[in-house]
Amino acid sequence: MTFLGIPTASSTGHLRAPRTFPEAAHDALGNAQLRRNLGDATATIRAKRAGVVAELPDWEQLRAAGAAIKDETLAHLDEYLIQLEEQVTERGGVVHWARDADEANRTVVELVRAAGADEVVKVKSMATQEIALNEALADAGITALETDLAELIVQLGHDAPSHILVPAIHRNRSEIREIFLREMAGVDPALTDDPRALAEAARTYLRRKFLSAQVAISGANFAVAEAGTLCVFESEGNGRMCLTLPRTLITVMGIEKLVPTWRDLEVFLQTLPRSSTGERMNPYTSMWTGATEGQQFHLVLLDNGRTATLADPHGRSALRCIRCSACLNVCPVYERTGGHAYGSVYPGPIGAVLSPQLTGVEHNPTLPFASSLCGACFDACPVAIDIPSMLIHLRAQVVDAKREAHHTPTPEAAIMAAAAWTMNRPRWWARGLRAARLSRFVRRRRALPPPLSAWTASRDLPDPPRETLRDWWQREGGVQ
Ligand code: SF4
Repeated sequence: MTFLGIPTASSTGHLRAPRTFPEAAHDALGNAQLRRNLGDATATIRAKRAGVVAELPDWEQLRAAGAAIKDETLAHLDEYLIQLEEQVTERGGVVHWARDADEANRTVVELVRAAGADEVVKVKSMATQEIALNEALADAGITALETDLAELIVQLGHDAPSHILVPAIHRNRSEIREIFLREMAGVDPALTDDPRALAEAARTYLRRKFLSAQVAISGANFAVAEAGTLCVFESEGNGRMCLTLPRTLITVMGIEKLVPTWRDLEVFLQTLPRSSTGERMNPYTSMWTGATEGQQFHLVLLDNGRTATLADPHGRSALRCIRCSACLNVCPVYERTGGHAYGSVYPGPIGAVLSPQLTGVEHNPTLPFASSLCGACFDACPVAIDIPSMLIHLRAQVVDAKREAHHTPTPEAAIMAAAAWTMNRPRWWARGLRAARLSRFVRRRRALPPPLSAWTASRDLPDPPRETLRDWWQREGGVQ
């Protein structure tokens, strides 16, 4: 925390990569099955999304409206959060504030214990993945069961999610069948890899748990400040059972998930399903306000680095994100490496900007470089987050931090300084270009020698052109 009591970037939970992105991506690229699974799945979702987005003549206006609503919310976040707290409390709910992952986990564990439960059911929640809640519950002797089908596959496979919306996107049907046969108690040994049979096996397994669970833990896609209403968008109906059957419901939600009014929510009801699953409307939209009779409702509002992100005028638009995952599905880097390479619960282009901001760039220094800056993520984003510009901003922070940490300039910094000096002197620059052209005749290399070899480790060294632009300009009689 700062001396003013404002939470700084967080370093706890599943936001930090144990390995650098290049190291993890190198391994992922060697897995042909993973690349096939990802290629098939992202191509299918991309095509569905393109179809339903094209149906709306006012798509660009909806994007602009979504961005404006989120920016207005973030500009007055303190007021809207207080309004939400008042509304939830007035309707019988209890609001808890958590500065970081540890505080949020402690709060949830205490609430589960107070309910006398040692088992909870969960509906998909990125926030609880972010804070490593399942691990904290396990440490306290509480079993957490994921009820979203994809999350269940990940949990039973002792795996980690690799996509925001389709956490088991890296698994195919036969792998899922093997996981169910190995891990799911009471499953039919004759289970096939037919999607209907797999869904039925999961349904039978989960139904027993829903009926006995005393406590449910959920995330939230949105909270409407003026009404104190929370919303979950989902496809399977498991969320609705989690939200309604157990006697105690605990919702963990990032503080940026607010919209001020019902009218604002209407924009996202159109853009989120289209951007995420490629549907006009998601099959289940559950909304609840406060607690119903005989049940308890607790809302845990999570900061965990969001206030620090909000304080950065260049980086704060990452908090507009509605976790639709459209940017992942169009990203050529994500499509080849998958989500695990990012080492954070938030993978893909949004993860490459959000994770370093939530943790501080020093804890995720390679993620801002996990992009070709092609701009496809910006075009796909339903709240128009300019991810490429933010990546460049974060890269500059990483470079500045490195410069401060090193008293002697790195080889890259020395080369850049030399290039800047030369480019500022036209004669020297012309001589340099001519020398580079002459090197064509000396030797053709695909890699540079040390210390420059790091630059060519992942790039081919291009052949210098036969003719420079200056020479061409002169030859064509251009004005000097
Ligand atoms: S950054 Fe945009 S496209 Fe990516 S998940 Fe967030 S809202 Fe969706």
